[in-house]
Amino acid sequence: MWETPPFAPVIKDGKMYGRGACDMKSGTIGALYALDAIKAAGLKPTARIHFQSVIEEESTGVGALSTLQRGYRADACFIPEPTGETMVRSQVGVIWFRLKVRGFPVHVFEAGAGANAIMAAYHLIHSLQKLEEEWNERAKKDRHFKAVAHPLNFNPGIIKGGDWASSVPAWCDVDCRIAVLPGWSIAECQKEILACVSAAARDHRFLSNNPPQVEWSGFLSEGYELTNSAEPEAAFAKAFGAVYGGTVSDRAFTALTDTRFYGLNYNIPSLCFGATGAAMHGFNEYVDLEPLRKSTKATALFIAEWCGVEKV
Ligand SMILES: [Zn+2]
Repeated sequence: MWETPPFAPVIKDGKMYGRGACDMKSGTIGALYALDAIKAAGLKPTARIHFQSVIEEESTGVGALSTLQRGYRADACFIPEPTGETMVRSQVGVIWFRLKVRGFPVHVFEAGAGANAIMAAYHLIHSLQKLEEEWNERAKKDRHFKAVAHPLNFNPGIIKGGDWASSVPAWCDVDCRIAVLPGWSIAECQKEILACVSAAARDHRFLSNNPPQVEWSGFLSEGYELTNSAEPEAAFAKAFGAVYGGTVSDRAFTALTDTRFYGLNYNIPSLCFGATGAAMHGFNEYVDLEPLRKSTKATALFIAEWCGVEKV
């Protein structure tokens, strides 16, 4: 489905195409070359820097969390996710869950006698879509997300079920993702998801006697709003001004980044700023190279401003 092979990067019209070219190789390499630029300028930082390359940002965030649990600390965190040259002011949290529906297999000649787990799963998905709308109604009160249309997306991302075209399917698993707002309790949201699924099951001929299970299958992540960050933001403002002119725009992000652990759980204000690109997680993903050079320069200047530098 790609124009060029996803793992054979191609540069065309100032864009680099490839899986992860934007999310998240651009930021990882950009941060490394920001440090290299300081060195190339005959300077070295006068404060300790931890360059962290982590795993699992896409599914749990435990890679970033493990660095904190290992004991690494700092006065600020800077994550160069490709934010389109905007500063993430607030980001949603995410919950992953798996619906496990069990049906009653019979030969399709007597399909009515059985219970089709795939069709039953649809019934649950429809009910969760209603919960999604309720949550988006609530989001209209959030100071940052009220300006964003439909910020909380419910996504049934993986579906597996059934074993034979001519057998009524006995099982269906649906891996789902839903977003939550900063400040919302994950435990309360889990309760609402469970209540939604059990209410839908009660309203279903078969599921009412065979309730589906819900497994928590990955993210159980709170949203994060950037606060107590005046100092690092002031340092970044100087860097941004020097490279782009003007002041950086805020962004209410409808996905999450690893900033939350540093900010929420370890009181380390976490900035998230990076280049432009498109089709992350999609086909023909790319990063814009000139904007990546600029965001790398801004990162280098931020490091110099925040950490201080001295001649080598
Ligand atoms: Zn991603």
